[in-house]
Amino acid sequence: MALIVQKYGGTSVANPERIKSLAARVARYKALGHQIVVVVSAMSGETNRLISLAKEIMQDPDPRELDVMVSTGEQVTIGMTALALMELGIKAKSYTGTQVKILTDNAHTKARILSIDEHNIKQDLDDGYVVVVAGFQGVDANGNITTLGRGGSDTTGVALAAALKADECQIYTDVDGVYTTDPRVVPEARRLNKITFEEMLELASQGSKVLQIRSVEFAGKYKVKLRVLSSFEEEGDGTLITFEEDNTMEQPVISGIAFNRDEAKITVLGVPDKPGIAYQILGPIAEANVDVDMIIQNTGADGTTDFTFTVHKNEMNKALSILRDKVQGHIGAREISGDDKIAKVSIVGVGMRSHVGIASQMFRTLAEEGINIQMISTSEIKIAVVVDEKYLELAVRVLHKAFELEAA
Ligand code: ADP
Ligand code: ASP
Ligand code: MG
Repeated sequence: MALIVQKYGGTSVANPERIKSLAARVARYKALGHQIVVVVSAMSGETNRLISLAKEIMQDPDPRELDVMVSTGEQVTIGMTALALMELGIKAKSYTGTQVKILTDNAHTKARILSIDEHNIKQDLDDGYVVVVAGFQGVDANGNITTLGRGGSDTTGVALAAALKADECQIYTDVDGVYTTDPRVVPEARRLNKITFEEMLELASQGSKVLQIRSVEFAGKYKVKLRVLSSFEEEGDGTLITFEEDNTMEQPVISGIAFNRDEAKITVLGVPDKPGIAYQILGPIAEANVDVDMIIQNTGADGTTDFTFTVHKNEMNKALSILRDKVQGHIGAREISGDDKIAKVSIVGVGMRSHVGIASQMFRTLAEEGINIQMISTSEIKIAVVVDEKYLELAVRVLHKAFELEAA
């Protein structure tokens, strides 16, 4: 007997038929004697619909009230899922994030989980129930409903698996595993049987939406056995996220390519080239809880320099107003500009550690297609570039081919 957390994404609960099929899978696992916790997302499209509704009333919706609205999507699907299980004669009970007490910080729309009260869930499991928990939502110390950021149900799933010390966390989605890149962009992409935790973390952080980054972080911290599978197929082992490097096989240098259309680039032109400038620019941005990703500062010429960084597209205007109101005059910058027509493409692989020339191969491949690189950042196992968003798909396709990632 094992304790398994199964998380089902939006397309896997898109309509009553999909929910019935989910319930049938849970029934099969239950019949084998396993204890099952199900985490569900909202029906596909529902979270977007709720966000648009909010925006019809307030252009930049108040985050607390937005969370009150968007968290309802998951409340509908937990009820439906519990009903579908009952229809199969299975004891089932649903819980919202607040009812479980998935305690988060108060960063509305991108809250972090602080702790989970697993007591009631454990009791229910011991009493023979399948427990159905709403993904994506929690509650802060003052009882406010919070949400965990887009794709946050993955994180609910893995965090619950960690809190319950589950034997496995299964992420059911509309693809049958983690691929070398998004199969919607490159149909030749290949499914990976296994991927190292480090690579998955890097792919997720660079924008592969198949797993939310925080879910991978939780899996790493608590060593949760994590697998990505298709909810549309009965067979198949999906992709296992592994914690050890596999030295038995020849590893490819590059394991995958990620991309991100959600970032915008902000440039502060003509700032004095002196100590403290990076802090004066980014300090107020951090205080406003805006996440910064890539950062570039050019070497100074004639005593001034340019400073460029990227933020989430949703936060570009907020960051621009902070800089224009609080920073520009103060540091004497010539100009501040924003560009949200950019995209980031990243190649990822632990094999980079032991191979040279990967960056130059990447840059040559892009140059041969006439794709200009606007920013570059690297880590030990990743090279990321920012390009004009209109070249994104081309860049991913040519890199996928250049690094021989296609299915054999
Ligand atoms: P869910 O609603 O089940 O959480 P998501 O849409 O969030 O599903 O994530 C699954 C999608 O992730 C796939 O349909 C695919 O388009 C996309 N994706 C991006 N990168 C990858 C990758 N490397 N491997 C598999 N899928 C990927
Ligand atoms: N429903 C939320 C979203 O669309 C959470 C999730 O699907 O994981 O982002
Ligand atoms: Mg998702």
